[in-house]
Order: sequence, then C-alpha cells, then structure tokens
Amino acid sequence: MIVQVTHVNLKSIVSYNCAICAAKLISPSSETSSGDTGPRFYCPQCRRTVEYTSDNFSASFRLAFTVREACTPVAHTLVAFDDIAEKVIGCSALEWEQRVRMHPETIQLMSNQLRGAWFRVTLRTKRRVKKHAHLIPDRIIATLTRLQ
Ligand SMILES: [Zn+2]
Repeated sequence: MIVQVTHVNLKSIVSYNCAICAAKLISPSSETSSGDTGPRFYCPQCRRTVEYTSDNFSASFRLAFTVREACTPVAHTLVAFDDIAEKVIGCSALEWEQRVRMHPETIQLMSNQLRGAWFRVTLRTKRRVKKHAHLIPDRIIATLTRLQ
C-alpha cells in the first residue's frame, strides 16, 4: 500500500522501561527533570529513582500517524514501533529524545518534513505480542520504505 502522511504527532513518542524489571518508567514533571543531566525517572516496580544513564533504562518508539492511501480518499491511522519508527524518524529513540531535549524545535521541523511524505508500507496481519494487544493488529506497520 502506498500512503501519504497527512498528520503526525511527535510529542511523547518515546517510552522508557526499567532495565531491571522492564516496567514502564514514570517521568516526573518536565520542569524539574530537564537540564544537562537529563530527566530522572521512577520505577514503580523496583521503587527506585532511575538516573539518566542509558544502561538504567531502554527507550523505545511508538509513533502514530494518519495517512491517506494513494489515489483514494481512504484514511488510516498507522502505528510504527521501534525499527520501523527509526526508519521514519531517522535515528534511535534515545537519540531522538536527546535531540529534542537540546533542540525542542526538532519536533516541529520533523513534523514539517514528514507531512506530505510518501511511504510504501505493509501492515501486520498477525496479532502482536501481548504488550500491544490492545491495538488493532492490522494497523501496525510491518515494513516501510520511504518514496521520493
Ligand atoms: Zn524496575
């Protein structure tokens, strides 16, 4: 399927999981968490504060965007995870998070770049692993190629 991006929301596309127990980390309010040392997180499972060093957590993408199918008015909301999202954004989740923290305007620049972009995508047919089972399976991107 060939699609064109009509809308993309790049805010909060990175989630953080504890390196020890894999629970989703809670980040405190952005006012107190920004700065050179990076955000600090809290693991509700381990009940510990997680300092911002990459071996303390894993960062992953969940990117949702709206597309329209080529030659039709049909719109879809698609979801891209990790590897696929990296192809869209052009860097890893951790690199993205660091870029955005240092240059907040990155979000707007990337949105502008993606809006109107064409991709060839295939969608997952099988139900995804439990973690994402609440999502409609056929909306998750399995493969993606950017078209110029
Ligand atoms: Zn933990």
